[in-house]
Amino acid sequence: MFVADTGRAGRPMSDKMETECPDCGGKLRFTLDEVAGQRTVRCSRGHNVKLQDHGGGARRVSKALSDLETAVEKFR
Ligand SMILES: [Zn+2]
Repeated sequence: MFVADTGRAGRPMSDKMETECPDCGGKLRFTLDEVAGQRTVRCSRGHNVKLQDHGGGARRVSKALSDLETAVEKFR
């Protein structure tokens, strides 16, 4: 599962985001990685919503975060 892996990898909590489900307006939680991968997430009421990375912005930010984490690892 992607969600479990995200926690174990020690990612910063700051890349968790929240929006409204386009179907019901319910809570929709996702991470930057999921937007970058254009994955399908499920809202609090069970609708499947495909995340769209318009213009590839999330992918760039996500990569920047990964680079940052890699840099942090090197200093340990
Ligand atoms: Zn919904």
